[in-house]
Amino acid sequence: MSGVAEPAPALLETRNVSKHYSAGAGLARSLARRPPEVLRAVDDVSVRIERGETLGLVGESGSGKSTLGRLVLQLEPPTSGDILYEGRSVLGRRARETRELRKRIQVVFQDPYSSLNPTMTVRQTLEEVLKVHRLAPAGSRRERVEELLETVGLAQGAADRKPHQFSGGQRQRIGIARALAVEPEFIVADEAVSALDVSVQAQVLNLMVKLQDELGLTYLFIAHNLAVMRHISRNVAVMYLGRIVEHSPTIDLFREPLHPYTQALMKAAPAPVARRKSITPALTGDMPNPISPPSGCHFHPRCPHAMDVCRSVYPATRVVQGRSVACHLYPEVEPPQPGI
Ligand code: SF4
Repeated sequence: MSGVAEPAPALLETRNVSKHYSAGAGLARSLARRPPEVLRAVDDVSVRIERGETLGLVGESGSGKSTLGRLVLQLEPPTSGDILYEGRSVLGRRARETRELRKRIQVVFQDPYSSLNPTMTVRQTLEEVLKVHRLAPAGSRRERVEELLETVGLAQGAADRKPHQFSGGQRQRIGIARALAVEPEFIVADEAVSALDVSVQAQVLNLMVKLQDELGLTYLFIAHNLAVMRHISRNVAVMYLGRIVEHSPTIDLFREPLHPYTQALMKAAPAPVARRKSITPALTGDMPNPISPPSGCHFHPRCPHAMDVCRSVYPATRVVQGRSVACHLYPEVEPPQPGI
C-alpha cells in the first residue's frame, strides 16, 4: 500500500477532453489529396468541479467554452478524453441511465426567450416540464408551479402571462425556474446574464447564489466577461482557442492575473475590477482562425511578452503559487518557497 489516499471524486470532472470538428473537407481538398481541415473547438481540457462549487469558464467568443458546456450537458460526445460524474464515466452508459443523468444536469441559456414557446403561458411551460419528466402528479402541478415562481422571485400573477410580457431579467428567472423544475443538482449557465443590464445582472447573479446556498446546486458558469465571475465563482478557468490557459481561485486571479491573456481580459472587462499593476494593454487583434491556430503558444501574435520560444513550442501547464498557467514566462518547476 502506498498510503496515499485517492482524492474523493468530484461531482463533475473532464479528463483531457477534446472536441474536434471536420471542416473544409471539400472537393478541392479531396482532389488535391489533402486531409480535411480540423477545427479543435476544445483541446485537451481537464477540470474538476466539486459539489456545491461554481467554476467560472471565461474567454472570448470562439474560445470553446460553450462547446465544453455542450459536452458536459452530453448534447454531443467528446472526440477523445473522458467526462466523469461522481467518479463514473458518462460515456457509454445505457440510454436510460443517460436520460436520468441528463435530468440531473440542466442548462440556463443567454436568451431564454428563444427557447420559450411564445404561445404558452409560464404555467403551461412549467407544467409541461413537470409532466414530461413525471415529476408531479396532475393534481399537484399547479402548486408546484407557484412554488417554483416564488423560488425565483416572480409574483404569482406571472404564471398566466406569456414570454413577451416579461422583461429580460424576468424571462431569465423563468429560464431558471424551468431548469429547477427538473430538480437538478448541476446547472450549466451559458452566458446566462450576458444580455442583461448591469443592475439586472446583479439581481440574477444574487438569485443564483441564493439558490446555490438553499438547494446545494453546482454551477459551470460560462461568460465572456471576467467581471461577473467575481460575484459567483470560487474558481475560474480561462480558455483561449480551445485550451485552458489559466486556472485559479477567483480571489487570486483578480489580485494578480498570471497569464497575459487573463491580464488583457481584465483590462477589457467593462465592470469595475480591482486596480492592479499591469504592463499589458487590453486585447489587441482578433482571435485567430481556430482551424489554423498560430504555432507554439496560440496567443503569441497578440501577446506583448512573446519570445522566440513562444512561436514554436506550446507551453506546458505550470503550477505557480498553487495555480496553473500555460505560459513560458513562468518556470516549469516552481522554486521552493521560503520556509518550506
Ligand atoms: Fe505570451 Fe509566450 Fe506566455 Fe504565450 S507563452 S502568453 S506568447 S509569453
